[in-house]
Amino acid sequence: MSSNGPAVRDLLSTVGTVPSEVRVACLVCGADDAAPFMETRDRLLGLEGRFHLVRCRNCGLIYQNPQLTPAELGRYYPPEYHPFLPAIEDEPSPWQRWDRRRGVDRRCRAVIARAGRRTGKVLAVGCATGIFLDGMRRWGWEAHGVEPNPVASAYARERLGLAVVTSDLTAAGYAAESFDVVTLWDVLEHVPDPRGTLSEVARVLRPGGLLVLSLPSIESVEARLFGRYWAGWDAPRHLALFPRPVLVRLLRETGFDHPQFTAFTGHHGTLVLSLDFWLDEHVYVPKLRAWLGRLARSWPARALTWPYYQVANKLLLSSIMAVFVLRSR
Ligand SMILES: [Zn+2]
Repeated sequence: MSSNGPAVRDLLSTVGTVPSEVRVACLVCGADDAAPFMETRDRLLGLEGRFHLVRCRNCGLIYQNPQLTPAELGRYYPPEYHPFLPAIEDEPSPWQRWDRRRGVDRRCRAVIARAGRRTGKVLAVGCATGIFLDGMRRWGWEAHGVEPNPVASAYARERLGLAVVTSDLTAAGYAAESFDVVTLWDVLEHVPDPRGTLSEVARVLRPGGLLVLSLPSIESVEARLFGRYWAGWDAPRHLALFPRPVLVRLLRETGFDHPQFTAFTGHHGTLVLSLDFWLDEHVYVPKLRAWLGRLARSWPARALTWPYYQVANKLLLSSIMAVFVLRSR
């Protein structure tokens, strides 16, 4: 009996268990040689788990290792995840409607100016509830989207009537060279295979077509200032953080030369999130914490940070960087 004990226990421990995490090599260079970088948790939604970021010794990418399986990761994107925004017309406050419309139009104008054409066909990868695509349609563009989250993609189809597929990009199987513009707004840091995603973007984009990316910048002042509390880490949803030279390399290797870096999104919203995460661990009186959070979100506080962002954007030191690059081959 005693000799069977461990064998039975081993058997029982494997029956019905599915691995929730897998060890992964570097998502950019494929090397399996990384140093521990940071242990963190889900500060945004407070869901359970400890997550580990490592830094590739070969290329410098910071990535989650081990990585949650896609099924596990899905649990960290509940309907209340904040990028799943409702239609602008459904905002009760006129100020909010004006502010959000201004933000969407700013993105649309930036994309259209860089695309070098007034109308065309745009694909938003990871389009969430389709707010940006709805904006592009208002500017006269034919709008398409892919979004793996079933709730967000259904909203884009049903509430906004958009051509959005519940899928990741590769599985959607678009025809080659069928888009003038492909956008990944705050998306590349979420995908398990950024190289495969960008290669597929290069395939579906016509030669000379425009790729638009925005993603968290670990070179930002806020990443340094807030350290582990910086909103850009966003574990476990952000699987990788790309130092600028690493992103330039990955873009070059997937068919995108000479990226232009800029910054114009995610200012105050990112700052107040980082501040929330800092307050969570440093201010123990809940009422005071809530008051400070409201103060930071007020219009006067937002106005005070405006001059700072004008400078930080110019110096590429804002929390979110934007990249415009043409398909070169
Ligand atoms: Zn690497």
